[in-house]
Amino acid sequence: MKRLVVASGNRGKLREIAEILAPLGIEPIAQGELGVSEAEEPFGTFVENALAKARHASAHTGLPALADDSGICVAALGGAPGVHSARFAGEPKSDDRNNALLVERLRGSADRSAHYTCVMVLVRHAEDPEPIIADGRWYGEVIETPRGAGGFGYDPYFLVPAYDRTVAELTSDEKNAVSHRGVALRRLLELLRRDA
Ligand code: IMP
Repeated sequence: MKRLVVASGNRGKLREIAEILAPLGIEPIAQGELGVSEAEEPFGTFVENALAKARHASAHTGLPALADDSGICVAALGGAPGVHSARFAGEPKSDDRNNALLVERLRGSADRSAHYTCVMVLVRHAEDPEPIIADGRWYGEVIETPRGAGGFGYDPYFLVPAYDRTVAELTSDEKNAVSHRGVALRRLLELLRRDA
């Protein structure tokens, strides 16, 4: 697995995935560096979208590909925005507008609970009949006033009760150690070792 393409154009995700893989000596290549466009994500489940993205990147590069499909699921909104998190407030994608809409939808709600979820898929080649699949979740609460400058996306509004800080107030090491993405990626690597 010397060369691994990551099927994402999201800079925040790419940075976190690279940080988690660095201690293992794996240097992922962003699909954009290889001229691969973003894949369609038409499905209603994280796992289907992640698989579609991984296959797309592998088919266009001939390399093993890792894809992450993730989002924030808010209990009081019936799990929304979920798979639609990146475009919650429509096109073009905007973290600011997504966060404003989330705060607006939750105004007056006593239940602020939410979780981040991430499904990671690795395909060794585009037609891999045994993709490696792992998931991770991270529970917290959505707050009304943003705090912190780290992370990306919904992080300034996602409070982690155990730390009494938002994700944007954590260091990247703190986030990666417990995040939905960190958990999913470490689980996936564990499954990969099973095949070694
Ligand atoms: P995807 O690229 O379709 O998987 O969209 C993922 C979206 O979910 C991102 O654009 C963010 O809005 C949100 N998201 C996923 N993971 C995180 C995270 O770690 N922090 C903040 N937002 C996240």
